[in-house]
Amino acid sequence: MSNKELVRYLINEGILKSPIIIEAFSNIDRKLFIWPGYEKYAYDDTPLPLGDTGQTISAPHMHAYMTEALSPRPGETYLEIGGGSGYQAAILAYIVSKDSSRGFVYSIEIEPRLVKFATGNIYKVGVYNRVKIIYGDGSLGWPPYYKGYLYDGIIVTAAAPRVLDTWLYQLKIGGRLVIPIGRGYFQDLIKVTRVDEKRFKEEFLLKCAFVPLRGRLGWKD
Ligand code: SAH
Repeated sequence: MSNKELVRYLINEGILKSPIIIEAFSNIDRKLFIWPGYEKYAYDDTPLPLGDTGQTISAPHMHAYMTEALSPRPGETYLEIGGGSGYQAAILAYIVSKDSSRGFVYSIEIEPRLVKFATGNIYKVGVYNRVKIIYGDGSLGWPPYYKGYLYDGIIVTAAAPRVLDTWLYQLKIGGRLVIPIGRGYFQDLIKVTRVDEKRFKEEFLLKCAFVPLRGRLGWKD
């Protein structure tokens, strides 16, 4: 398999749809984000371990599905909670920076080894200057606890106990949050759209399987 074949598979499955998202998945080679030793599975539609950190890079169909759910556009600003390999952040950075001098992705990662890994990976792709991998606790948002209209989209890539206000109030009006909620092997993938100052619209997307969110407002054990 090649990255091209993986993209074709995701299109055939009806998961990748938008031209700009297809372009991002075609231009960002998943193999560059795979932990050494697992490269031969880079183009399989499966999650893969990030060394012995206990964390994983999600399956390509989940990255594709969540990216489509966020409807990213050039010029927008995104926050990712759970940088992991840096792959999802790179995909979003490709889209938001396309033909735009604005457009930026902040990605928070709580595991120091993965901050290093993701940062190194991001430097292998053209959009390295449009992404920042930050060491910190994303359960508090970024900047922590700040309330203000910062992001067009927030993607949480670890399963949270609930939708936290720290994220909701960092969304711009019309901004989208895509997030897995729950405990146990399967969780609910939810999309929340900020309708206005105080109102949020929530929709269930599908069942999914993510590692648990850690940090101050994550799971306690
Ligand atoms: N989006 C990643 C996959 C992430 S796996 C990718 O594209 O590869 C989930 C990640 O969330 C793990 O790396 C884990 O360390 C991180 N994480 C868990 N709780 C966190 C928190 N509170 N703040 C920031 N990162 C967190």
